[in-house]
Amino acid sequence: MTLVVASLVERSIAGVSRSSKKAFEAGADLVEIRLDILRGIDAHPNLVQDARGAVDGAAVATLRSTFEGGRSDLKGGARRAMLERVVDSGFEYTDLELARDAHLLKELGSSRGGTKAIASYHFSRPVAKALVRQRLEKGLAARAVAKIAMPCANAAQAVMLAELAGDISAKGKPFVLIGMGAQGQLTRVCASGMRSELAYACLPGKEAAPGQLDVRTQAGLAKHGSVILGLIGHPVSHSVSRPMQEAALRSVDLNGIYLPLDIPPERMNRRLVATLFDIGFRGLNVTIPNKQKAYRLCDIRSESARNTAAVNTLHLQKGKIVGENTDVKGFQQLISLKKVRVKNARILVIGAGGAARAVCKALSDGGAEIVVAARRPKAASDLAKACGSSWTPYPALGTATETYDIMVNTTPIGTKGAKDELSNLPENAIKNSRIFVDLVYNPSTTPSMAVARRFGRTAHGGLEMLVRQGEEAFKIWTGKSPDVSKMRLAARRVLES
Ligand code: NAP
Repeated sequence: MTLVVASLVERSIAGVSRSSKKAFEAGADLVEIRLDILRGIDAHPNLVQDARGAVDGAAVATLRSTFEGGRSDLKGGARRAMLERVVDSGFEYTDLELARDAHLLKELGSSRGGTKAIASYHFSRPVAKALVRQRLEKGLAARAVAKIAMPCANAAQAVMLAELAGDISAKGKPFVLIGMGAQGQLTRVCASGMRSELAYACLPGKEAAPGQLDVRTQAGLAKHGSVILGLIGHPVSHSVSRPMQEAALRSVDLNGIYLPLDIPPERMNRRLVATLFDIGFRGLNVTIPNKQKAYRLCDIRSESARNTAAVNTLHLQKGKIVGENTDVKGFQQLISLKKVRVKNARILVIGAGGAARAVCKALSDGGAEIVVAARRPKAASDLAKACGSSWTPYPALGTATETYDIMVNTTPIGTKGAKDELSNLPENAIKNSRIFVDLVYNPSTTPSMAVARRFGRTAHGGLEMLVRQGEEAFKIWTGKSPDVSKMRLAARRVLES
């Protein structure tokens, strides 16, 4: 069982006492006292015992020196003497440095002072799996809890740590693997699925390490019935699915979390998705640019997935990865709600990626005449062939005079924070269409929507599609119908903030 450790970053004994009470009330199994943060500890070693006495429960002692990223100025013999004192002060665990404290780790291995040693190693940047494994095995060989922390620039690096946890857990020896930062957070959320011995958390607003969850959330995730969901994409910074899906969870009284996972396309593969399910994810969304890859890696594909050869929703059924495409329904609901009539309408679809496939399926089912325009002629012609439509080269739109009833943007052009944020779709094509629909939802009014309105055209953004595809995905994952108005409100709040 994974134990929840609340890291306390207090400067006084009174603070340690107060915060430890709060942490245990919030569900912590232990507290970590950062002795190096306690004011005056280097000059008054007796404070170690005082700190231990201030906690009414199990505790981890950590004394990290400045050269290890901590705050204690102790070095050499003075540091060692202090650590000797810590080891004999009745802490359930003592955090030591794998690289520096070999002597103490050896003594603790032969069970000195009743404390369990944690052999910590902190990487300062993301490194290859082989190097993490080497350090981890060294920690395990020291008969300690081997603890490795590594900053994660993307979630694929955190998944690598989870894979390593899967490889190592068969040995039955205790370890902790932590991915630091927002993209490493899945290693905290799935600490028990990874069989980590300890999950470090913080009191609200008192983060001791980047990416820590608050104690109540961390403890809540360990409870039976918690739902872990996520989004695989690149980038994911523009996404508002987290607040929207977490509002959905609350609306049906489910405890859980939704994590945006930045997975570069070259790292998206079956093993990665299988690992996420292995460590506890119940459901995953897939967004740009991974939907067609997601389709290929599934064991089972729903009808909507087969119809589009793209997948935006993944779940597990009897150990098999199942792919669905809820974008089709999402888009159908958007046009129905906005009263956009597509039967016999001539519609220009810009883009030929995963979302375009869903849009074309919904439009051809609705009886529209579709023209696809994409910058890669092969992608445009393949999609046109799949939905029985025609296609036109994207660059030609700039000077074309053809008119359309509706134009739909399925590219990321105009997305907040993306590299295409400041680009615009060809104004000419927008002007030559009566209605403009943008799948981009962040910002609420995209630059191209503003252009359409300037020409006196009707323009709709992608928020309603986002909410509706999210509702369908949520039903697949949980079997429950969420409150759509709460999902919409949560997404809108973020977009308007
Ligand atoms: P995707 O599979 O990567 O496809 C993106 C398409 O856009 C590709 O055809 C790509 O062409 C094209 N494209 C990208 N940048 C372009 C540019 N600067 N000029 C011209 N074409 C460009 O991504 P996706 O999953 O379809 O998603 C596309 C967009 O739709 C994303 O912004 C996503 O957030 C949005 N979306 C919104 C909803 C919603 O619910 N509102 C649902 C689904 C998708 P190349 O192949 O040449 O790169």
